[in-house]
Amino acid sequence: MYEETTIAAIATPLGEGGIGIVRISGRDAEKIASRIFHRSGKAPEQLQSHRLYHGKIHAPQTGRTIDEVLLTVMRRPQSYTGEDVVEIHCHGGAFLTRQILELVFAEGARQAEPGEFTKRAFLNGRMDLAQAEGVLDLIRARTEKSATLALSQTGGALSQRVGEIREALLDILVHVEAAIDFPEEEIDFLPRRDLIARIESLRSTIDTISDTYDWGRLFREGARVTLCGRPNVGKSSLLNALVGEDRAIVTPIPGTTRDVIEETINLDGLPVVLGDTAGLRETDNPIESMGIDFTRRHLEKSDAVIVVLDGSEPLTQDDVILLRSVRHKKFLVAINKNDLPQVSSAECVMVNGCAKKIRLSARTGESISALKEELRDLLIEREVEAPAVITNLRHRGALRRSSEALVRSATALHEKHAPEFVAIDLNEAREALEEITGVIQSDDILERIFSDFCIGK
Ligand code: GDP
Repeated sequence: MYEETTIAAIATPLGEGGIGIVRISGRDAEKIASRIFHRSGKAPEQLQSHRLYHGKIHAPQTGRTIDEVLLTVMRRPQSYTGEDVVEIHCHGGAFLTRQILELVFAEGARQAEPGEFTKRAFLNGRMDLAQAEGVLDLIRARTEKSATLALSQTGGALSQRVGEIREALLDILVHVEAAIDFPEEEIDFLPRRDLIARIESLRSTIDTISDTYDWGRLFREGARVTLCGRPNVGKSSLLNALVGEDRAIVTPIPGTTRDVIEETINLDGLPVVLGDTAGLRETDNPIESMGIDFTRRHLEKSDAVIVVLDGSEPLTQDDVILLRSVRHKKFLVAINKNDLPQVSSAECVMVNGCAKKIRLSARTGESISALKEELRDLLIEREVEAPAVITNLRHRGALRRSSEALVRSATALHEKHAPEFVAIDLNEAREALEEITGVIQSDDILERIFSDFCIGK
């Protein structure tokens, strides 16, 4: 299914580091390594698989020593890709790793595309598609909880649950197909209502897993939260208080935060990307008005909004405009500057009867942890007990299609349609499930999935 070329890439991040790793995979991996790697004072010999060897990398043309390295060969099929893999652990740094990679290319390997190592692992049956997608999530995980979810997917938890549902579905199909093969048995081998009950139960399990997407995605991608409020209410200060470090620029001049400043915080395992934006207000200043347009767009993309008000001042027209404009979103109201004498809050309460309001002080840190708790509850709403958690839109699409096909099959049974029609729907439900682990995949779907990976993975 893929060309038998040998691919290579730098597997570690570019930049300075203690160690850099050049990874080679494919038929010629070992041959290429033997051309450039020399063990210190030893005659060339066949290296044992899965051992680490000390030696030097030489440029074959000039004989010049490039670096002192550790090298390991992992022969097929016991390797990440399922092909022969060589890893060269050299000194870190963009220049050295690149130089070694160039030597590897000169000996016949080609640059690996993003995710190509993992794609080969999938194509060689080392992991299924859901597991491969879990690898990407694992690399990108920003909190322990995100990593745990990704690790369980890579370890095959989702694949296993999906596999069990598929088995149960095949069982139902056997009964329906028996009814096709033996039409004289008017009643199916299992009573119709038992079949319907079994289908219903499978559909409900599928829906429970599918419903985990909304919060599973938040753990995978991080929730986007925008801090919004008119200038000088203390958005930047609140962002800093939430982050716990002085990062955003704080100034007493209104309208200074024009670009979005983003910081990621960890809310008890939930990664949250906080954006501090320009305030929304009526303005004639063209530059500020661009900032405000930008804020509006940013608001729309957010999973939740924190509207910041200044509790030491009366509510202004701009505050009211803002509160109205976020009504369709999940939002919290942070009434800041509680360390100062407060003006009556009655009007603010009236504007948004239903939103949570927290009186706090970005300056003293009062109630910042309460805000964090409220924010987490607002974002997650409920952490469902489910047999597996999905974090991937592709998986949700497949589960939904499977569930819909099951509903159709149950209706067909109810309405006493011919078993052939019931079987068509059940087979559709099965095929949709199989897409998750990648039993059936078209090349362009694979292309799309793996191009999201970084080079070297
Ligand atoms: P932004 O324009 O909304 O981002 O507001 P800033 O965070 O830049 O704050 C504007 C001014 O309000 C600064 O002088 C801050 O020091 C001050 N400020 C922010 N939060 C508080 C607070 O909780 N209490 C008091 N007393 N002042 C605050």
